[in-house]
Amino acid sequence: MKINKQILLAKRPESVPDASTFKMVESQMPVPKENEVLVRTHYLSVDPYMRGRMKNIKSYAEPFQIGKPLTGDSIGEVILSKHPDFSIGEMVIGTFDWAEYSLRDGSELSKINLNEAPITTHLHVTGMTGLTAYFGLLDIGKPKPGETVVVSGAAGAVGMVVGQIAKIKGCRVVGIAGSDEKLKYLKDELGFDDIMNYKKVQDIYQELDRLCPNGIDVYYDNVGGEITDAAISLLNFHGRVPLCGQISMLNSENSEKGPRLFTHVIRRSILLKGFIYSDYQDRFEEGRQALAEWLMEGKIKYKETIVEGLENAPDALLGLFRGDNLGKQLVRLGE
Ligand code: NDP
Repeated sequence: MKINKQILLAKRPESVPDASTFKMVESQMPVPKENEVLVRTHYLSVDPYMRGRMKNIKSYAEPFQIGKPLTGDSIGEVILSKHPDFSIGEMVIGTFDWAEYSLRDGSELSKINLNEAPITTHLHVTGMTGLTAYFGLLDIGKPKPGETVVVSGAAGAVGMVVGQIAKIKGCRVVGIAGSDEKLKYLKDELGFDDIMNYKKVQDIYQELDRLCPNGIDVYYDNVGGEITDAAISLLNFHGRVPLCGQISMLNSENSEKGPRLFTHVIRRSILLKGFIYSDYQDRFEEGRQALAEWLMEGKIKYKETIVEGLENAPDALLGLFRGDNLGKQLVRLGE
């Protein structure tokens, strides 16, 4: 009997998840039926929204079920196929279980063209996080040359792409992140104009004010909390805020109370708009093509933090909240 290792949700965490949130189990390897494909996982994408799916609340993504495998964007190789469009050995992308092997209907999988770009970039620059950066910044932020764009979570998968697209569009870009090593990379390698380590500064508002002498035109929000309060307070007339993520609040069960900024938002005719990348499903091809071109031309660079082994995937997820990752957090399985 062939064995399949899987990671299940053991219980719903009340605040910060820990090892007891997850359980690794072994089960029998599944066998495909008509139209199904058995895939061996090569890479798992590790994403902050997975923490949101551990809560039993209605959201754009279904909650994970206790005792069932976690799932996420992944890349793998077809091992067995009962679907006419897929053959053994082909590389595919889809939402797999956090497992060595996953059984999926062929309609849930897409083939990967191995000649296009390094395979893992399908899980970030030209995949979900890149599309999130592209549409949030360009469709909501609408940056114009010479404007000041501030991005929080700047050294992560979404933030890094946001900053680089803003540079392509001729903006002045200020990145906020939580380590000097990350900030050095943004400035020296990606050409960010200025940077702020939010863990080191005494007063986030004062420092951001100093770094943005002409105010802020676009604030791309990946984190929420105190950083966002400061950035919104510094927005110019007709400033725009793509509300992408609130990672600073994902481990809290209660909604946080902060400064109430709506008077300021009204007085300055500011646009605050939440979005989910899948709102743009009809335009994914446009986004993918633009991102792939910039990647090929070297206008978008990237970093990956890769952890080895399925058993280390839970800690990689917890690492997002510690700020362990520079760029996209991935887990590699097998050789
Ligand atoms: P990242 O690669 O940016 O990883 C998360 C990073 O967040 C960490 O490395 C850490 O970096 C930072 N962070 C963690 N806790 C805090 C905190 N309390 N305050 C400030 N920063 C913190 O993740 P992604 O790029 O995948 O996602 C970025 C954001 O975008 C997330 O909020 C996510 O939920 C959201 N998202 C939204 C989507 C949408 O459709 N709306 C789609 C995809 C992502 P540091 O060292 O800087 O603290």
